[in-house]
Amino acid sequence: SPSIVFDDVVFGYEPDRTILHGLSFEVPAGQAFAIVGPSGAGKSTIARLLYRFYDPLSGRILIDGQDIKQVTQSSLRAAIGIVPQDSVLFNDTIGYNIGYGRDGALANEIETAARGAALMNLIDRLPQGFETEVGERGLKLSGGEKQRVAIARTLVKNPPILILDEATSALDTRTEQDILATLHRVVEHRTSLSIAHRLSTIADADRILVLNEGQLAESGTHSELLRLD
Ligand code: ADP
Ligand code: ADP
Repeated sequence: SPSIVFDDVVFGYEPDRTILHGLSFEVPAGQAFAIVGPSGAGKSTIARLLYRFYDPLSGRILIDGQDIKQVTQSSLRAAIGIVPQDSVLFNDTIGYNIGYGRDGALANEIETAARGAALMNLIDRLPQGFETEVGERGLKLSGGEKQRVAIARTLVKNPPILILDEATSALDTRTEQDILATLHRVVEHRTSLSIAHRLSTIADADRILVLNEGQLAESGTHSELLRLD
């Protein structure tokens, strides 16, 4: 898995309002990082910059030592998988949603891609099969089921970097813990960034960055951070 470096990154959406004030941090290859902080701190902005929805005003972002401006859009998007908070599903089958339209030989292709134990576990626990229609055309999935489909959709691409942007925060605690248990196995040995506002959702993180008003307030392991207060 690749490493991620933010090197003195300055960014704002509007010219007169800076959101990230020279943010620097490093996620070593294969580590599970978490970013916590209050709403509006700039957490999701970090994910958007990594995916190059926006570019920094100054500073650099490196993946595996390479400035992401030097990476083609397609290889950048292949390297990063994002699971957002509220995933929107297509009005189609579960299989279509997971396979992104690889309709024909879908079931076979997906099942091959899904061979990883953690991913099979995600899909096995859905109440219905790949062919089930969801959305307006068919079954209404619960929030947790929808997120399982969204996570599976991201994981079939087998992205070297996984970003979970409040991926479970819309779910009830029990469903959240259930999905987090599965995700724990998925993120092992994979570079990952989990964006969260509750510490309970990032219990498995190797290292935690606390972001406040676009600046790094603290960083450390769980025990290091707990010692601070
Ligand atoms: P967090 O994820 O920590 O809640 P965000 O990164 O989403 O915070 O947002 C950081 C700040 O940037 C907030 O003040 C938010 O209002 C502002 N912001 C986010 N997106 C935009 C945008 N597209 N245009 C202007 N301001 C934005
Ligand atoms: P529902 O309200 O039935 O839960 P969804 O949330 O599944 O509906 O989807 C809302 C609408 O957005 C649907 O018409 C669906 O086809 C469409 N849609 C879902 N995902 C996408 C997407 N990634 N791109 C474009 N349209 C989408």
